[in-house]
Amino acid sequence: MADNLTAPSFNNSYDIAIIGAGPAGMSAAITATKAGARVVVLDDKPRSGGQIYRNVDASPLANSAVLGEDYLKGKQITAAFKRSAAEHICGVNVWHVGNNGEVLFSLEGETQRLTARQIIVATGAMERPFPIPGWHLPGVMSAGSAQVMLKSDGLVSDGAVFAGTGPLLYLIVAQYLRLGVKVKALVDTTPKTNYVRSMSEIAGALSASAMLIKGLGLMNEIRKSGTQVYRFADNLQVMGSDTAAGVSFCVSGNSHEIVSDHVFLHQGVIPNLNMTRALGVQHHWCEQQLCWKPTTNSWGQSSQSFVSVAGDSSGIVGADSAAAMGRICALGQLVSLGLMSEQQAVTEAAEDQRFMARQQRFRRFIDCLYRPIDQHRKPTDENTVVCRCEERTVKDLKQGFAQGGRDPNQLKSQTRCGMGPCQGRMCGHTVSELLADWRNEPVADVGYYRLRTPMRLVTLQELSRFTDVAPAVTPSIIHSTKSSSSGKGSSLEEKPQ
Ligand SMILES: Cc1cc2nc3c(=O)[nH]c(=O)nc-3n(C[C@H](O)[C@H](O)[C@H](O)COP(=O)(O)OP(=O)(O)OC[C@H]3O[C@@H](n4cnc5c(N)ncnc54)[C@H](O)[C@@H]3O)c2cc1C
Repeated sequence: MADNLTAPSFNNSYDIAIIGAGPAGMSAAITATKAGARVVVLDDKPRSGGQIYRNVDASPLANSAVLGEDYLKGKQITAAFKRSAAEHICGVNVWHVGNNGEVLFSLEGETQRLTARQIIVATGAMERPFPIPGWHLPGVMSAGSAQVMLKSDGLVSDGAVFAGTGPLLYLIVAQYLRLGVKVKALVDTTPKTNYVRSMSEIAGALSASAMLIKGLGLMNEIRKSGTQVYRFADNLQVMGSDTAAGVSFCVSGNSHEIVSDHVFLHQGVIPNLNMTRALGVQHHWCEQQLCWKPTTNSWGQSSQSFVSVAGDSSGIVGADSAAAMGRICALGQLVSLGLMSEQQAVTEAAEDQRFMARQQRFRRFIDCLYRPIDQHRKPTDENTVVCRCEERTVKDLKQGFAQGGRDPNQLKSQTRCGMGPCQGRMCGHTVSELLADWRNEPVADVGYYRLRTPMRLVTLQELSRFTDVAPAVTPSIIHSTKSSSSGKGSSLEEKPQ
């Protein structure tokens, strides 16, 4: 990476470096270490668990059961992960993964480097941007951020409005209500047409009836609490000029306004792409989930054979499928490393693959039902901010487009949209979709920002201090001569789908 660093050597490498200690990363680590691989797991949180199981072993809440049984289930996997032989380096920002297996991360003010023969990217999801008028104002947060504050620090906001669509929105509202926190209103933007369209996928939903029942249970819980719920809302806007003062919206053509200092928005999650993008692996546009996804084969292997992508960073799959994918990716990499036969991997992956196939049918139903409406993804109001870091509006982007900014990178050069510290995370999908409309071409042809290292903010101090990290133990297993940094020679080299 940097000129003053010597080239990485694989003599003292990990077999597998996993970025992300959520269900996908933890499961991959458990599976890989059982087969004798030297595994390191890097995560920016102080504890393992990822988004769903955040702080499950150290909840600040007196009764963490209010977060639901799916949350508490995380204790089993975090315990199994702690028992595994994987090295867990927590509280670190991974900001570079090279195509030579080099991983650079910041820890306590310095850069640390390790190398690995195989990489599993398990960096999870982020919430879909919600570019409506006023979404950039102080007082507006994503509902997921409200949940992060709750799970991390036990902080809540009384009297907030929750608005948007998707199962996570209802879950977070229910978690608030169980704690006795007052929710001013839930403004549901799921359109009536989605209920009709999703009926074509109802067979898939019924095949996972337990999840369907859970979802209906959440809605029932919210209804019984007496919380004001507005359904089929559109034209959502955040009111206020300097800070949020509430939301306005329409239901069947009738205008409504709700006053509140805190507005929590959510319209589903999309893969957290900055790492796979910076790695240069192939991506494709997924119309079902309205997002970019890294292109992988059935073992999670990307277009760079030493990189696999597991869990929500590969496409939104949910926590249980993320764990299944983590195991499958690990099995694929064990074969590439020569630590497992292909036949054994196929046998061990079979149950998880069947489970994932069932879950994918349910996911199609969810994706159809909670597909966010166009006007909340592709803003038409010229003053709506698209890039929050650089404060670029629809009007700025239209001007850039008129001046020749035809693709996201050209538009970035013209307008600075996407150049801020979030590296396009909060505007990338909006820009791809807006340009597709303006060019009257498919999003797939428009593309996405070209991202480069560093994929997270790094200070000069961190760059100037540098340490190499090597595996703590040398395994007794002799690695196959087939194994290499690129994983070439693997019998699982099925072409990415
Ligand atoms: C804000 C939010 C809240 C959610 N809450 C729930 C919930 O309550 N219930 C539910 O069913 N689903 C929830 N989800 C969906 C949830 O993400 C998945 O179901 C599940 O957690 C996916 O597991 P995963 O292992 O793929 O990723 P995650 O669990 O997201 O784990 C990925 C981990 O990688 C870390 N990471 C990412 N990039 C880097 C980097 N560069 N350096 C170091 N570490 C990095 C992340 O901080 C995270 O700890 C939530 C999603 C979001 C975005």
